[in-house]
Amino acid sequence: MDTPPLHALVTGANRGLGLELTRQLLARGDRVVATCRQPGKASALNALAGAHPGHLHVLPLDVADGKARARLAHELPLVLGDDGRIDLLINNAGVLHSGERFGRLDQAQLEDSLRINALGPLLVTEALAPLLADGARVANLSSQLGSIAGTTRFGTPGYALGKAAQNMATRLLAQALAERGIVVVACHPGWVQTDMGGAQATEPVDASARGLLDVIAGLAPAASGSFLDWRGEAMAW
Ligand code: NAP
Repeated sequence: MDTPPLHALVTGANRGLGLELTRQLLARGDRVVATCRQPGKASALNALAGAHPGHLHVLPLDVADGKARARLAHELPLVLGDDGRIDLLINNAGVLHSGERFGRLDQAQLEDSLRINALGPLLVTEALAPLLADGARVANLSSQLGSIAGTTRFGTPGYALGKAAQNMATRLLAQALAERGIVVVACHPGWVQTDMGGAQATEPVDASARGLLDVIAGLAPAASGSFLDWRGEAMAW
């Protein structure tokens, strides 16, 4: 679907879906602020920045770090210009700690997942809200593993709790930003061939990213607060 050029911000953009979303946004002519924890080590992202001078800015952000969120909000106007605004915020950064077992749960790991997967998107969106354009889109990368209705086994509890809580954050943010016409959605990208998804995953990263961007481009205002997959199909909460 053709859309006019946007100013987008993608978190966790140094690899996986975040990198591919950044690549595809640039390919369609958008300007992108790509954030990651360690820009100095983000070689693929820095190569993209070299190939798209003036269109891609790489800035540091650990989504779980309050000082880093505040610094990003402070620095963004330098990149966007005084009147510049973000049209599309993709809260993509996420973590899945593997190997969790009932009977041997690790509190620190559970808390880490909640901080990154749930509080991260909520607090990043809050910090950047003054810089979002009226009518902007906010896409939170959720997961079918965060679907309470779809849970049929004990698996990846830190991740599942984090994404379920993130889904509530999506609903709350949709309410908080409704008066500015900002549409906030939870997106399941499929089981994607990234470091997190692993080699068995069914969806190529480019197809998932393309599907997500098409779904986001087609969002009607009434879709705010919904949970959709990369094909635009509704997910059960
Ligand atoms: P990935 O390959 O593991 O990449 C995760 C990205 O998140 C990396 O860039 C990582 O940065 C970043 N990140 C982790 N913690 C962070 C933090 N505290 N602050 C900033 N960045 C952080 O995962 P992916 O498959 O691309 O997943 C992208 C999103 O889709 C995630 O939210 C994930 O939960 C969701 N998702 C993925 C799948 C799948 O099958 N792959 C399925 C459902 C949902 P570092 O390099 O610094 O670690």
